Amino acid sequence: MALAFDEYGRPFIILREQEQKTRLRGLEAQKANIAAGKAVARILRTSLGPKGMDKMLQSPDGDVIITNDGATILEQMDVDNQIAKLMVELSRSQDYEIGDGTTGVVVLAGALLEQAEKLLERGIHPIRVAEGYEMASRIAVEHMEKISHKFEFSVTDTEPLVRTCSTTLSSKIVSRQKRELAAIAVNAVLAVADLERKDVNLDLIKVEGKVGGKLEDTELIHGIIVDKDMSHPQMPKQIKDAKIAILTCPFEPPKPKTKHKVDIDTVEKFQTLRHQEQKYFDDMVQKCKDVGATLVICQWGFDDEANHLLMHRNLPAVRWVGGVELELIAIATGGRIVPRFQELTPEKLGKAGLVREKSFGTTKERMLYIERCANSKAVTIFIRGGNKMMVEETKRSVHDALCVARNLIRNNSIVYGGGSAEIACSIAVEAAADRYPGVEQYAIRAFAEALDYVPMALAENSGLQPIDTLTAVKAQQIKEKNPHCGIDCNDVGTTDMREQNVFETLIGKQQQILLATQVVKMILKIDDVITPSEF
Ligand code: ADP
Ligand code: MG
Repeated sequence: MALAFDEYGRPFIILREQEQKTRLRGLEAQKANIAAGKAVARILRTSLGPKGMDKMLQSPDGDVIITNDGATILEQMDVDNQIAKLMVELSRSQDYEIGDGTTGVVVLAGALLEQAEKLLERGIHPIRVAEGYEMASRIAVEHMEKISHKFEFSVTDTEPLVRTCSTTLSSKIVSRQKRELAAIAVNAVLAVADLERKDVNLDLIKVEGKVGGKLEDTELIHGIIVDKDMSHPQMPKQIKDAKIAILTCPFEPPKPKTKHKVDIDTVEKFQTLRHQEQKYFDDMVQKCKDVGATLVICQWGFDDEANHLLMHRNLPAVRWVGGVELELIAIATGGRIVPRFQELTPEKLGKAGLVREKSFGTTKERMLYIERCANSKAVTIFIRGGNKMMVEETKRSVHDALCVARNLIRNNSIVYGGGSAEIACSIAVEAAADRYPGVEQYAIRAFAEALDYVPMALAENSGLQPIDTLTAVKAQQIKEKNPHCGIDCNDVGTTDMREQNVFETLIGKQQQILLATQVVKMILKIDDVITPSEF
């Protein structure tokens, strides 16, 4: 509260906004932060696993998104709590690095926070908790390496890759088609992969979608597709061994950049102008023909006159192709983007074995397929689906599968899923806790308990008794010394994830543990929350 005077000397009182609100410090701050983090994790918990639920999100402009992907859910949610934002960021980093496991990482972080809260209440200093978590995470990551398996795959035997990608897809809407989609993703990745260097450039895989048709119609195209059609309906619909001129200059007479005025006062003058214009078009078309182009792809439009002429001179053309697509076409066909007609030379033409226009459904929707390109390392996954939401979610799911296939090419180690790896690590961390004499051992034990939250969430989402199921599986792991026992979410009849073919990548799982620990440590170390209005 402050007393001030206006320009006439009259006193008035300034009440600061939210004067009553006190700033959070110490344990209060930590507890509030943990509560915020846990709230975010609770939202995602029900989306984990093959029986996980989907979320429907509505954007401010009314668009509806239905998704099961943790990163997408958090991205679309409008969180304005700083700590909750850290959780969003956490999911995003997992998405950047690994691509899959974005829900699991948040669930794990939430579990770690919940456990930390209990320790803080017992009077253990947050720094000790953070240190204990750090040690425990190292033990867990090492143990995960121990229980991992390497598998060999080759271009001819892609079965292990397909199986791992199917596990990723099994938690998505598209799970009824998981084998087919997994095979498409694996083939796409292998088509662009550099197996020598163990590297995959995912930019070369374009994921396109169009509403209509069935999910089963989804296909892998060795080439690219462009959402455009031939500029004139009478142009050929199919061109074999196409030589493509990729132009960023328009088919029209040049317009001077400065102000100009043309006075036409006689019929003759008009005729000359018209002839000149026609000659311009004609020269341009001739230039394209001279260098041997059989197809013109143009960034700009051209008017009916040019269009008609192109059709007449038997030079098929596509207009209004976007810059990104143009670049992709250039890369795929080995051509060069030409900014001026004068610069057009035969070497700059792109080459493709087949260019065809395909129409869909009963509408006038057509797309251009450019296949058998000179540079075969560009593929497109073309997704079909009943509605926009389905197509979009399929795109995201396929992205997850592509990332998993790429990760396996980089590092072909896998662990078994269904929470089995987490349970195995939990047992290992629990056992290691006894070796630490200090207060950290409480934090290490808490970490082990937090790891159990993932299988518990899987069990709960599948309609099983979480604690009963977890204890049974854990006992089985210890008794049979088998780290592959997990939660039988689909009621197959066995808990052995090896038999169920539920695989996950080692680096993905390790990254989950590392990232979750990092964020939780960061949250625990905050003991004062200062927002601008409270200075
Ligand atoms: P994320 O976004 O973290 O990848 P998902 O919803 O894809 O979340 O769920 C992944 C979890 O589901 C993993 O722990 C994985 O092991 C488990 N999972 C996937 N398929 C199965 C299955 N058929 N049986 C049991 N667990 C499965
Ligand atoms: Mg997944």
